[in-house]
Amino acid sequence: MTNDTRQYIDLHVHSNCSDGAFSPSMLVDLAQQEGLNAFAISDHDSIAGLAEGIEAAKRSDIELIPAVELSVQYEAWQDVHLLGYGLDYTDKDFLWRLNCFREQRVHRNEAILARVNERLKDENLLTIGLDEVLLHARDVIGRPHIARALLARGYVKTVEDAFRRYLISCNIPKHYWPINDALAEIRRLGGVAVLAHPTSITTNREDLRRIINDLSRQGLDGIEVFNNLAQGGEMEFLRRRAKESGLLITGGSDFHGIEQGLQMGRGRGGVRFSDTLLAPLKNLLFERQRT
Ligand code: AMP
Ligand code: MN
Ligand code: MN
Ligand code: MN
Repeated sequence: MTNDTRQYIDLHVHSNCSDGAFSPSMLVDLAQQEGLNAFAISDHDSIAGLAEGIEAAKRSDIELIPAVELSVQYEAWQDVHLLGYGLDYTDKDFLWRLNCFREQRVHRNEAILARVNERLKDENLLTIGLDEVLLHARDVIGRPHIARALLARGYVKTVEDAFRRYLISCNIPKHYWPINDALAEIRRLGGVAVLAHPTSITTNREDLRRIINDLSRQGLDGIEVFNNLAQGGEMEFLRRRAKESGLLITGGSDFHGIEQGLQMGRGRGGVRFSDTLLAPLKNLLFERQRT
């Protein structure tokens, strides 16, 4: 019996519509098992899982927040991750733009796989076909799916091992949304824009301070203070930056269902995300959607 009556959420979760292991409906079941009140499906450059997730959530007492995690470029930093919450994910223009990114990714994946196969040949191993990679993917394809194909062949021990040995050196850059374009798009769709795991850009605090100030002037609404990458005092540092710039504070596990020792609703070290983070986000969404 626990005396813990606090309520928890998770604002950053991946489904198998990007590189997560579980379908949107399975995530709703998992959220229920973990005792969450609400969670967001935030697939990479894909909204394909949202309709299924929302339907499943209606049959439960879980609130599903529709979201997306866009890969953006900011100054010289590529692959900065921007979360868009509560946006109109049925907007035709948005779907068309996501589709362009998806098509570019297909070409990119073929090129990465060709590089990986060159390496496998050098090691006298049998090459991997695109069909084998696609077995692990549903909507958006990426390096994690090539990692799983390498794992299925027994060529690597874990997904991390696949990145270390093949996928980092064989990478080809993705096409990224320019940051101002991505911020404007999320705003146009009535959504709220939050910078995901900010220390993935840099851990240099002076740079982070400048980046957060600048992005907040460009229309960023919040930062993912409680995230899975921040170490030691970094979350406290990020919390202070959010307060200083008047930004929303959010939190999420970045659960994909494949990380060792990570559960949905919990970050590394078991950190949980309080549902008190949700009301300010929903208030801002409400304001956006009224205007
Ligand atoms: P892609 O979008 O195809 O470049 O794949 C990027 C995704 O791969 C990230 O969102 C992570 O989920 C995963 N990833 C990146 N680096 C690593 C790593 N070193 N180990 C495991 N997964 C990784
Ligand atoms: Mn991912
Ligand atoms: Mn991310
Ligand atoms: Mn993520």
